[in-house]
Amino acid sequence: MNIVLLGAPGAGKGTQASWLHVHHGFSHLSTGDMLRSQVASSTPLGEKVKAVMESGGLVPDSIMLELIASAIQSNRGSFVLDGYPRTISQAESLDKVLGELNVALDKVILIEVNEGELVKRVGGRFTCQQCLTGYHTEFKPTRTLGVCDVCGSTEFVRRSDDSVDTIKARLEIFRRETEMIIPYYEQRSLLARVNGMVDIDEVTANVEKLLGIA
Ligand code: AMP
Repeated sequence: MNIVLLGAPGAGKGTQASWLHVHHGFSHLSTGDMLRSQVASSTPLGEKVKAVMESGGLVPDSIMLELIASAIQSNRGSFVLDGYPRTISQAESLDKVLGELNVALDKVILIEVNEGELVKRVGGRFTCQQCLTGYHTEFKPTRTLGVCDVCGSTEFVRRSDDSVDTIKARLEIFRRETEMIIPYYEQRSLLARVNGMVDIDEVTANVEKLLGIA
């Protein structure tokens, strides 16, 4: 089963995708993670996309298509796409790639969260530098201040595009470009909505129910 998770920045796509990976064996194909790893390794691609990512803008479709096509092509088994597609043109390209590879898209899940909540969520996110466990200053702090619950590391990082100004730019792009994808998938009866304003565990339970894997 192959699915797309749609939702604004901070809606919880990464959290749900990571659950599906760990507990249900899906490959977690996150375009944001792929790009961040290119930036961290200072590859030519990373150098090309660094500035646009830091400003909260979208990386050009042609670059994204190459990344996602190669990720899907080399994937084995079910996958969950997190962060792609973000524009109608990306949704059309995805259809084309999937068609060429004879791979089906089974469901698109939209995680809905109101905008004030998104700004709060993104503003407080931080990650353990060692094991990459995600935290939030208010909603999911570490049990001991400054120490990772999972690996004990005391080094944490914040995404450089999680500043208040950048999150506003990213939300604006979501409204302008990404929301248009919703009717695209609705017309093909692929879209399902989940309320992302409830506890993470409840969102997960609803996602699992929708996928028939509860
Ligand atoms: P994310 O981790 O999904 O929030 O993505 C972080 C950043 O990576 C975005 O703000 C964009 O700059 C870039 N990015 C990720 N996915 C895409 C995409 N499908 N199209 C264009 N840019 C993307």
